[in-house]
Amino acid sequence: MDYAALREKMVREQLLSRGIKDEKILAAFKKVERHKFVSEELAPNGYSDFPLPIGSGQTISQPYIVALMTEALALNGTEKVLEVGAGSGYQLAILAELCKEVYGIERIELLSRKASVLLAGVGVKNAKVKTGDGTLGWPEEAPFDRIVVTAASPEIPLPLIEQLGMEGKLVLPLGGPSSQILTVLEKKRGLIESRQICGCSFVPLIGKFASP
Ligand code: SAM
Repeated sequence: MDYAALREKMVREQLLSRGIKDEKILAAFKKVERHKFVSEELAPNGYSDFPLPIGSGQTISQPYIVALMTEALALNGTEKVLEVGAGSGYQLAILAELCKEVYGIERIELLSRKASVLLAGVGVKNAKVKTGDGTLGWPEEAPFDRIVVTAASPEIPLPLIEQLGMEGKLVLPLGGPSSQILTVLEKKRGLIESRQICGCSFVPLIGKFASP
């Protein structure tokens, strides 16, 4: 299987054609080997235009959604980023290409351990993953310049707002279990501004400051 060719095709047909134009983001998607973040049986589908199961009832998001959320973070390479819902570690690997350091929290220990091993295996050096309730954030590492939540929540977990630095951006799918709106919150001079991007569908965020 020519995975490099599949990555080029994914970037052309799923990202560029839908308006993702940032050269650095496109380069990250061409580089990161998504097929390594799914099981061997699913690897041939690793560059398909849909989410894939990663075990424990969870999914790795559709590549376009990962790109859209990454674009919404507006990274310039200097940021410290937190991802809540590390899952397979794929989005962390993409973010690691585009920022200074990235921290991932995953509530399912099996997934977080796998993600750590995978990230080390593909040579990512600026990412850390821990098991835990990401709605509490990662206080020891706060503040973060950017926070991305890759599971759906009806509300914005308060600790994440507190741990977002000045001029920081937080991207998350806001809404109930059946559908959500991908939303960007921006801290500007102590005030929070919000912008909606599009409808989306994520697995639920489960934790103290989200669903019980
Ligand atoms: N970004 C991931 C990737 O690249 O593979 C996919 C994320 S998946 C759509 C959502 C993940 O959020 C699941 O793995 C789920 O276990 C996790 N999750 C749900 N609630 C969480 C919480 N409170 N803290 C941390 N992870 C959580």
